[in-house]
This record gives sequence, C-alpha cells and structure tokens, in this order.
Amino acid sequence: MKTIDFRSDTVTTPSQDMREAMAKAEVGDDVYGEDPTVIVLEQDLAKKAGKQAGLFMTSGTQSNLVALLCHCERGEEYITGTHYHTYKYEAGGAAVLGGISPCPIPVSQDQTLPLDLINAAIKPDDFHFPVTKLLSLENTVNGKVIDQNYIKLATAIFKERGLKSHLDGARIFNAHIKSGIELETLCMPFDSVSICLSKGLGAPIGSVLLGTSELIEKAKRWRKMLGGGTRQVGILAAAGLYALENNVKRLRQDHENAALFKEGLENISALNIDINYTGTNMVFVTFHDESQLSKIQTALKSQNIIIASSRPALRFVTHLDISRQDIEKTLSIIENSAK
Ligand SMILES: *Cc1c(COP(=O)(O)O)cnc(C)c1O
Repeated sequence: MKTIDFRSDTVTTPSQDMREAMAKAEVGDDVYGEDPTVIVLEQDLAKKAGKQAGLFMTSGTQSNLVALLCHCERGEEYITGTHYHTYKYEAGGAAVLGGISPCPIPVSQDQTLPLDLINAAIKPDDFHFPVTKLLSLENTVNGKVIDQNYIKLATAIFKERGLKSHLDGARIFNAHIKSGIELETLCMPFDSVSICLSKGLGAPIGSVLLGTSELIEKAKRWRKMLGGGTRQVGILAAAGLYALENNVKRLRQDHENAALFKEGLENISALNIDINYTGTNMVFVTFHDESQLSKIQTALKSQNIIIASSRPALRFVTHLDISRQDIEKTLSIIENSAK
C-alpha cells in the first residue's frame, strides 16, 4: 500500500531523473570554489532572483543563520514574527551563536507583522537598548502568500533608516507560482533572501542564500565557521538545478490539490470542523469533536496516510509525491469514517 504523507513538503524523495542528474554532475572541491555545478546553481538562482551572488547552504536554518550573522553583530537585534521560522524554529541559533538579540512581534491574522508594531519595535539610539539592525520577514508563511505591497511598505521602514531586510523565502517559489509575480520582483525589497530547494521543489537537501557579492563573501566565512564548507557537493547542487528546471511550474498542481482537498472537506457534511486553506499547499483543519477526530486519525493511519498530529489544527501539506488520486482517496476515507 502506498504511503501518503501529508506532514510536510520536505518528505518528498528524489525522482529517478533527479538521481540521474545527480549521478552525472560534474564536481570539484567547493571549499576551493571549484565545483562547477555549485557555481552554476548559485549563479542561476542569483540571476533569477535579481541578486548579485548566491551561496549553497546545507539547510534553510543554516542559510537564515548565516544571513543574520552577516547583518547583525553581538548586541544587535533583528525584528521578526513570534511564529516566523527565524525566531521560533531555528533553535535560537542567532542568540546562541551570534549574540544577536531577536525581537519577535505578534503576527496578524494575514501572517504579516503590523507596520505600527514594526515601527514601534525599532529602538532609539540609547545605550540601554540593543541596536536594531534587521527586519526578517517570511514568504510564504504557513502557506500564505504575503502581499507584495505590504512587503514594500514594511521593508521601506527599515530602508529609510539605513537598516536592512532579510527574506526567509523557504517557499518563495510557491508565492511566485500562486501570485504570478516574478521571483526578481518578490526578492527586490530585500538585502538578502534564503530559498529552500528541499521543500516543494523536491531536492533532498540544500538552500541558497542570495544577496550582494559583498554579503556573500562575508557569508562564506560564517558558513565555514558553522561547518557548512563542503567538498564535491555538486552532486547535491545538481538535484537543486534539476528541481529549478523541472519542479517549479508544477507547484501549481500542489496548490490545486490543496484546494481540491479543502473543497472536498467542505462537502462532507458530517464533519464538525473549521478549515483554514491559506492559498498554496497547506490546509489546516480544526476538529470540534474529539471522537470524530480520533476515528478519522485511526482510519487514515490504517491506510498508511500520515498527518502531523499538531493539535488542535491538523496540517495537511501537498507536494510532488501526492497526486490528485491520493487526495480523492484521503477524502473518501475521511468521509466514510466521519459518519
Ligand atoms: C523549512 C523552513 C526553513 C528551513 O528549514 P531547514 O529544515 O533547516 O531546511 C526556513 N524557513 C521556513 C519558513 C521553513 O519552512
């Protein structure tokens, strides 16, 4: 029986074609800057995002951390959201390893940081305070595309003061496909952008940090210090290049499958739930009836359908290893066990 894994878009496994591209990759020692496949990946993505340079990273967490270390020094701070990844899900790395103080502010319903709160969080020049240096935003957040006009306004607050902005664009390609806005436009307001290759794009590993050549030069030292200097890593960069070539446009299918799932759930009248579909590849479902939830969880589990058990809301994430048929099968199991 096929496993249908809704936990995250990170659970995809490399396709045969991707593996072949990896096997054929030309490689060299990337610490010497001599891996031709890594160079192509970094330049290709930098060009698409309208940035001067890129740096291949082992993970999104490493990429964000290196960006924070590039922008902020000890005793300085970055402003971000209480449930944004750079604050909540990166083990406090910036504080632990960089002496950088996070300033998390509450996130609105639409997953943005209120502009008045951003303004109010910027510290005046007073030795009691950490020195505000950076705004760290995210797109998409919980699968929600952040409005580009909002992004321009938020980053302008920092720019006007000579401060910088970073984008955690782990799923920026979902935002690009959903909004139809060019990657370059989405990245333009930011001084640095981190993009994951191992989420919806389906590569087994890798993120790329993008920014000015100066920032990327600095980033190389931090990456090295964090143990992220790697050798014949073109084998992995080849998976990233394959993903950029083949797996970007198809994100549309993931969005369609998520929308289909949401509509399917709405049509099951026996369900006592609230649905929050955030527009790309994530559907959040809150059950009001514990016993109904338990019945459905048991039924899904028995059919090898895996979901993250983050109560109260269950998160369903679509990705390239989940087909339309998988969605239909899941809906019919839910329908049968909801009665
Ligand atoms: C997954 C993710 C990251 C990076 O995660 P890694 O697992 O370290 O690659 C960063 N930001 C967001 C929003 C993410 O979803």
